[in-house]
Amino acid sequence: MDRNGVILSRDIDGTTRICGLIGHPVEHTMSPMIHNLLSDQLGINERYAAFNVTSSQIGEALQGAYALNILGLNATVPHKSLVIPFLKDIDPMAEKIGAVNTLVRDEDKGGFKGYNTDIFGLSRELLFENIDLCAKKVIILGAGGAARCAAFLCAQKKAEQIIILNRTLEKAQSLSDEIVRKMDFKNVSAMATADYSKLYTGDNHSFICFQCTQVGLYPNCDEAVIEDEDFYKLIEYGIDIIYRPLETRFMKLVKANGGRAVNGLRMLLYQAVSAYELWNDTQIGTEQAEQIYSILEQTMQKASSIILIGFMGSGKTTVSRVLSKKLGCRLLDTDEEIVKDANMSVSEIFKQKGEEEFRRLETDELSKISAMNGDRLIISSGGGLPLREKNRELMNQIGTVIYLRTKPETVYSRTRYDHSRPLLNSDNPLEKIIHMQKDREAYYLEASAEIVDTDDKNPDEIADEIIKIVKDIVV
Ligand code: NAP
Repeated sequence: MDRNGVILSRDIDGTTRICGLIGHPVEHTMSPMIHNLLSDQLGINERYAAFNVTSSQIGEALQGAYALNILGLNATVPHKSLVIPFLKDIDPMAEKIGAVNTLVRDEDKGGFKGYNTDIFGLSRELLFENIDLCAKKVIILGAGGAARCAAFLCAQKKAEQIIILNRTLEKAQSLSDEIVRKMDFKNVSAMATADYSKLYTGDNHSFICFQCTQVGLYPNCDEAVIEDEDFYKLIEYGIDIIYRPLETRFMKLVKANGGRAVNGLRMLLYQAVSAYELWNDTQIGTEQAEQIYSILEQTMQKASSIILIGFMGSGKTTVSRVLSKKLGCRLLDTDEEIVKDANMSVSEIFKQKGEEEFRRLETDELSKISAMNGDRLIISSGGGLPLREKNRELMNQIGTVIYLRTKPETVYSRTRYDHSRPLLNSDNPLEKIIHMQKDREAYYLEASAEIVDTDDKNPDEIADEIIKIVKDIVV
């Protein structure tokens, strides 16, 4: 398998063990990439696939998986609690949490044993970050599945106090009651998120805070459950369970107010590592796991930047501006950057230095962008930029490439009064557009991950279509 998770046919033979994920939907999961990379790294003949299974088919799916000699399964939303009645055995902690995300084949019992490796993943992330919950005061934002994990972990690690804040108070109260009952942990309480200012008691509190809601998840990157800076002054460590974007608004607010903040990407990685260890009765070292972390981080970064390609007049500049505003991402226009650096207009560069030199400047520009770490970017590219192989390669490393496809007649009507485009200087511009588009189409198709047709759509509609596409690319 290559580092992008592409499985090669020679990877699978008659002795290959199969693991997988059941969920509904499963199309956008990163689990196959993590598990297949682990198998490659360890030289274990094992492959991992995603199975779209509806809730009503869980029993049949588990029976079939056991009969097919499947080594292990992960369960994701909405199956984490629904799989429990179909298990032959369950780990005590998973039973208390009431959620199973890892199923391990048990030959003696003739079925699967359930574990919750989300809690292992969170615990290992905290260990990696050197965050010790013992005797600490903790705030948990949210009371859903991820918050349950955090709350049970805090009780297990003997935190001093747990305060669960949730939009719906009843759900926070119910989780708090469960922690008291199942973990014999007394100092836990529930609060409506809207009442967060009750935490301002004047004492010099220092909390560890787990952000366990989906508020701030891509593409709504500029949102946080609580905006009040005073709340963040209480936080020593902030752990956002979200990992897309890599730096959430919650994390930014924690850092801006003097705290440390981490995202949930290591939790995701280490829940998978823990499952892999259970299936293969092995131990995976931090160094090996961290190699995969780097690939995940790059993938996440890539998933948050968008590059628009397409013929002149396809709307790249206007749509990129709209996207940048809607997604709160930094905007870069390769032509503008080149003009700034060269201190010459595009027409002047073409006239004085030639097209080949301009393409080389585009490559330099993309190399610079690809070296930028952590920025979520919207990039509007020059129409001829994808013609160079190196540029297609670099764009692919930077982000999700979207081809804005536009009919020649539309391009003509949009550009006919624009005399700043050197390539359209011709007696018959429409014919030139038709020819040039024909020449470029294959490169645009090769470079792009997705195509958006722009004819008869306004920039706002095109931007919304793009947001819908990229939102689902990686989850
Ligand atoms: P969930 O069970 O649906 O719970 C969602 C929680 O978010 C609830 O407490 C809900 O409050 C709250 N919430 C939702 N919208 C809100 C809003 N607009 N304002 C305030 N609170 C809001 O979801 P989950 O399974 O816990 O997942 C939560 C997030 O964690 C997701 O983004 C998921 O991707 C992430 N996650 C990450 C990992 C990892 O490995 N890093 C693992 C699991 C989950 P109410 O109760 O009031 O509705």
